[in-house]
Amino acid sequence: MTDREPTKNISGGESGGGSEARFDPATAGTRAEAVVDRLGELYWTKTYGGQDAFECLVRTILSQNTSDTASQPAHDALMETYGSTDSDLVDALADADQGTLAETIQSAGLYNQKSERIVALAGEIREEFGGEAGFDAFVRDDDPDVVRDRLLEMNGVGPKTADCVLLFAGGRGGVFPVDTHVHRIARRMGLAPPDADHETVREYIERDVPAEKCGFGHTAMIQFGREYCKARKPACLDDPEACPLADCCDQVGVYPASGAVVDPADTA
Ligand code: SF4
Repeated sequence: MTDREPTKNISGGESGGGSEARFDPATAGTRAEAVVDRLGELYWTKTYGGQDAFECLVRTILSQNTSDTASQPAHDALMETYGSTDSDLVDALADADQGTLAETIQSAGLYNQKSERIVALAGEIREEFGGEAGFDAFVRDDDPDVVRDRLLEMNGVGPKTADCVLLFAGGRGGVFPVDTHVHRIARRMGLAPPDADHETVREYIERDVPAEKCGFGHTAMIQFGREYCKARKPACLDDPEACPLADCCDQVGVYPASGAVVDPADTA
């Protein structure tokens, strides 16, 4: 359904390397897979893998605790200042003056903390992997569990960041990063227990969704959360017909009769 794809969207649309997702919900082996297949009727898939691993790490650190609207200009400014020279981005940031970097990324918020982390990470990566190319090769080629564990040891890198690097830089199948949208929607729909934390939601979804569909499922579920299954006002609250996935949803914590919405964990 090409005409359903929002022009401003997470897949980047046609010009951002996106393409139509083609899945068949009738052949899905689990309800989670069927949900991902149905999301394929709404949204396009994009290219997963191929991004520079260190830049991906920097991007996700900039985006922590803020919106894309705030973190994108910070990323652009950082790349303009440190990424446009002939030098390796890892080198440029390992040698960066932290105060100057903090000013450069100001729009992302928490700029002192984020700049400290970025400089420290760049130093750590340079020492262990030699620079951008060595780190890319590690993320792309090493055992995914080893890569994930190593990323999680880095200061400022949590499970979502590690999984985003594995997916968008490493192009690894079977990785379904769980952000706030995925965490909420999976529990509302009944794809994971109501009180599951981010890691438990990830385990359920990665168990139930085929490896090759995980990347698409992640980006499509975020888009779906922004458009339909919003935190405070899910589309079904006022109009049961308004959500295209209502027929595969348990509506855990959503009460259209009273208009109440609670975190699924509070229903247990
Ligand atoms: S039916 Fe409601 S709670 Fe379920 S996915 Fe749709 S908007 Fe979200």
